[in-house]
Amino acid sequence: MNGQQMLRGLLRLAGAALLISLFTGATVPAAPCPRKGTLGTSRTLEVDAVSFPRIGLKSFPQTLPLRDHEVVLTFDDGPSPPTTPKVLATLRKQCVRATFFLIGQPALEHPTMVRRIAAEGHSIGTHTWSHSDLQAMPRIDAFAEIDDGIAAVEWALRGVATTTPTTPFFRYPGFLMTPETLDLLQSRGIVAFGADLWANDWDPQTPKHELQLLIERLKAARKGIIVLHDPQAKTAAMLPAFLRYLRDNHYHVVHVVPTGPAVDFDGVP
Ligand SMILES: [Zn+2]
Repeated sequence: MNGQQMLRGLLRLAGAALLISLFTGATVPAAPCPRKGTLGTSRTLEVDAVSFPRIGLKSFPQTLPLRDHEVVLTFDDGPSPPTTPKVLATLRKQCVRATFFLIGQPALEHPTMVRRIAAEGHSIGTHTWSHSDLQAMPRIDAFAEIDDGIAAVEWALRGVATTTPTTPFFRYPGFLMTPETLDLLQSRGIVAFGADLWANDWDPQTPKHELQLLIERLKAARKGIIVLHDPQAKTAAMLPAFLRYLRDNHYHVVHVVPTGPAVDFDGVP
């Protein structure tokens, strides 16, 4: 059974579960935002693949046109209970909107959580089907990894396993790119979304150390796209203190969104 067949089989099996979750899936009522005393989200920035095909200084010469003290918060590798809900609760408490780069397999397992991320106003990009190294496989399999990841996330969001993403933002697992997949993304209008700074939250370290490292790097860079990992318990643990640091030191959170009309995931006109 190849990846595509497996995905289609899984989608069929999971169809009933999604139908149930669409009608019973609890979304947490949104806290009133903006709210005094919170970090908040200062502005939205529309990002499209024509103006910004490849962004993030870790991998590319170009990044987003952020001003001094502006940051974009991104979270990779979810959805993952129980840490993703903790991260969502922290963001909600500070009225902050972020971007989540979801992996297809867990998105298929936790469609309610995918819809909750969207319902809380965050952007959702994709991060392949299984988080494999795209440099270590034939071109055709790398393409399937990208497409199956998009299809799984779209199915979780909207019940349609399309390979046209609602939000055309993609991040490479481990930032491991190939020329062929970069060309594929560009030809399909999907932004290759890198990062400007990170907290090494994939390494063993305490939440306190992670926080210190991130603050040190932010002080040096003064702005940028930050990559964190919501499945990491230490990241979920240090996030409240990091958002307080941003608020108290006059940083501004920029929410990146796709160009075009917003999609309402709650089905409310
Ligand atoms: Zn990742």
